[in-house]
Amino acid sequence: MTGKVYLVGSGPGGVGLLTLRAREVIDRADVILYDQLPGAEILATLPSHAELIDCGKYGGAHTLEQHEIEDLMIARAKQGRTVVRLKGGDPFLFGRGGEELEALRKHRIPVEVVPGVTSAIAVPECVGIPVTHRKYASSVTIITGHEDPAKPESALDWETFARQKGTLVILMGVKNLPAIAAALVERGKDPATPVAVIERGIRKDQRVTVGTLATIVDRAREAGVAPPAVIIVGDVVNLYDENAVPEQGSL
Ligand code: SAH
Repeated sequence: MTGKVYLVGSGPGGVGLLTLRAREVIDRADVILYDQLPGAEILATLPSHAELIDCGKYGGAHTLEQHEIEDLMIARAKQGRTVVRLKGGDPFLFGRGGEELEALRKHRIPVEVVPGVTSAIAVPECVGIPVTHRKYASSVTIITGHEDPAKPESALDWETFARQKGTLVILMGVKNLPAIAAALVERGKDPATPVAVIERGIRKDQRVTVGTLATIVDRAREAGVAPPAVIIVGDVVNLYDENAVPEQGSL
């Protein structure tokens, strides 16, 4: 009998934002393949009766290649085991969850997807920055900052992003922040557009750095900003007030 694989989102880090379904399938799993992105607080709650497989160090050298992760999931499921693939935030937003679903389908492995609270929306909102707002932003665009915008073969259309009136949310963008800010300004976005960089959102050591497209690169460098961080570009950032950050009860 073939087992089953659950592709599970952990939410952005606090156990309070793990869904009830995620908790249930994690607690019943025989095998859990996890990344570091869910964070220490959630990883500390993984059940010790399960086989726990660390698939990678966040932002560092991957301990397992993507195809090795997929092969492991498939092999364990074919042994009849219940497998959880645990990923930070939502499993299908920039986490290669889509590729894992394809691999499982190809091998006809039963699969369930457990959505997670994405950092793209939750991290800014928990510091008091709504990604949309009737007055300031009627759309939100979520972009991977992993690709250097200076590369000619980029799959991203910075021309269009620079023209957007709504909010831009950039994940995995810390390393390329200078190139991203330059790409937007070169393509006509106002250098005075407010920007916030939120590191380790909804975790005990969360930190917010604010500036504009013109100043954020220096500010981030001075602050020693490091991943994981969510970058928000747009007028909604003006709603951030360091003296009135909403309380966070999920920690
Ligand atoms: N699937 C995840 C995103 C994976 S890409 C989700 O839906 O949230 C990894 C990126 O997510 C990081 O580089 C960072 O930009 C962002 N990220 C995830 N959790 C975060 C957190 N707690 N604080 C800040 N950024 C976070």
